Amino acid sequence: MSDLVKAFGMAGRVAVVTGGSSGIGRAIAIELARMGARIVIVSNESIRIIEALEEVRVFSPDSEAYEADVTSRPCMEEMVRHTLQQHGRFDILVNNAGITRDNLLLRMSDDEWDKVLEVNLTSIFRLTRLAIKPMIKARWGRIINIASVVGMTGNAGQANYTAAKAGLIGFSRSVAQEVASRNVTVNCVAPGFIATAMTGKLKPEAREAILARIPLGSMGAPEDVAMAVSFLASERARYITGETIHVNGGMFMP
Ligand code: NAP
Repeated sequence: MSDLVKAFGMAGRVAVVTGGSSGIGRAIAIELARMGARIVIVSNESIRIIEALEEVRVFSPDSEAYEADVTSRPCMEEMVRHTLQQHGRFDILVNNAGITRDNLLLRMSDDEWDKVLEVNLTSIFRLTRLAIKPMIKARWGRIINIASVVGMTGNAGQANYTAAKAGLIGFSRSVAQEVASRNVTVNCVAPGFIATAMTGKLKPEAREAILARIPLGSMGAPEDVAMAVSFLASERARYITGETIHVNGGMFMP
């Protein structure tokens, strides 16, 4: 075991990463596996989850893929039961699965609002409520929620998404205060513009306008976000809770 892996103290830990089949979630799953954790990747059924698992298993052969919709209460209850039965513990939860359904408020449908709030906020409330039980029992846990820079700044056309992401930051601070005495930390990582399928939909003009606002001069890579998540999940971040780490190339400095 390398000194870095030892210092991160993640060997033998079990980490559930939602939305681990692609983009930022896949990079997080690979990085936590590289640091010694066993991973349960939770994503919708697709070929991508199998591909992601292959990459994760290079570092952590006992990792597995669990195909499920995070908005389904029974599926998440079953996933937590399965994780505890199969791996005997549930140490780290990364709430990363997320979607966008952009529209100007005047045109935004109830369905666009409801779907984004359901995936990006309500499902996280439910899964976190399930996950903190084994963490409290074990007197150790790490919950990392993937927010967004626009949860702080707002963004025209994303009232639903920004409401969910801003809500996630408040949610994390409240839960952090509830579970701190049990040695469970709850933090957010707020990415800026990261090159993934989600931002691949941007028109070239929009991409140029965003790049002009990033002092470090480029979009981030999923691995940039994964590094911050792996630090927060590690033993080295034991005294950090209720915090949000911004990974945005300097485009927003709170
Ligand atoms: P992505 O490539 O579109 O990946 C999203 C992941 O979430 C996929 O694995 C997807 O699985 C999964 N997912 C979506 N809905 C799900 C559901 N109902 N149940 C289970 N899994 C579901 O997006 P990304 O860019 O990596 O984004 C990851 C997170 O970072 C999101 O929370 C996003 O809001 C946040 N973020 C991204 C950026 C950015 O610039 N990319 C910036 C700020 C914040 P399937 O593909 O199988 O559906």
